[in-house]
Amino acid sequence: MRLLVTGGAGYIGSVVTAQLLDAGHETVVLDDCSKGHSESVPPGARFVRGTLREMAEPVLAEGGFDGVVHLAAKSLVGESVQRPGLYFSENLGGTLALLEAMRRTGVARIVFSSTAATYGEPAGVPIVETDPTLPTNPYGMSKLAVDTALTEHARLHGVGAVSLRYFNVAGAHRGYGERHDPETHLIPNVLAVAAGAKESVSVFGTDYPTPDGTCVRDYIHVADLAGAHLLALGACTPGSHAIYNLGNGSGYSVREVIEVCRRVTGHPIPVVTGPRRAGDPAVLVASAAKIQAELGWKAERDLSAMVTDAWAFMSGGAGAGA
Ligand code: UDP
Repeated sequence: MRLLVTGGAGYIGSVVTAQLLDAGHETVVLDDCSKGHSESVPPGARFVRGTLREMAEPVLAEGGFDGVVHLAAKSLVGESVQRPGLYFSENLGGTLALLEAMRRTGVARIVFSSTAATYGEPAGVPIVETDPTLPTNPYGMSKLAVDTALTEHARLHGVGAVSLRYFNVAGAHRGYGERHDPETHLIPNVLAVAAGAKESVSVFGTDYPTPDGTCVRDYIHVADLAGAHLLALGACTPGSHAIYNLGNGSGYSVREVIEVCRRVTGHPIPVVTGPRRAGDPAVLVASAAKIQAELGWKAERDLSAMVTDAWAFMSGGAGAGA
């Protein structure tokens, strides 16, 4: 296939692009590099620097595109609370521009990076796709609005759409890993302590109703996650919009994650306990039963593999994972 990957210079986008190239697909990356890094675009992909509004249509109008993998987005929860308009404008407005460009140029297949944040505080776990969607921040709201737009776009214009609702993505793959600035995610922050870049890691809240009092999350390896995009591209059905959770189906507490990082790095990793971070649900764990049953996808790499690969990436190694 000939594919456009929006956000292909970002953490997840670079791994998705690498896997698409490996599978023999011709891939064009569109990224404005507001967060991504041009050097993260895998060799073999053509890179176009620009926004969705400016560049999606000129690129797609070149012709011959079979589909779009749409990952370009603003994705910082805290920033979204401060600047909700930016999140609706970039995430929803940008996607509407992309969808319009697809309609005009006759591109009928889209895989979208949605998020567990669309569910908000879950009524129960594991979360299934039919659970209520009550996002608690503008980031989740903007992603949910895109999911709704995709449903309508599929119904009205015959597009085949798949939304993948990511849980906590971690790890590295073939030299492509996480390099956020600022870094808010747990695993890179813990590994920064092991690498000597920080003295200690803060644990946000120890009074949650969980076995050790810290938040429980469902971590998924970026290589497993990327693989789901390839399956989803093959499963886009004209006129329909399918939604799948992407997680491991098992949860790890913040303390358990730190323990795995200690084991993998051999570093004691001092901890400072602090107050809860606003907006953090106690437990978020996915049911991935639907994507397993319908697309045959299953997470293959465990938390140890994620930490090992993230550590190799941070230490300047290959980022592991063949
Ligand atoms: N967390 C933490 N210290 C950090 C970063 C994160 O205790 O330095 C906690 C955070 O409160 C959450 C979990 O680790 O419970 C995972 O957070 P992350 O930001 O990695 O992902 P999120 O669940 O917010 O998408």
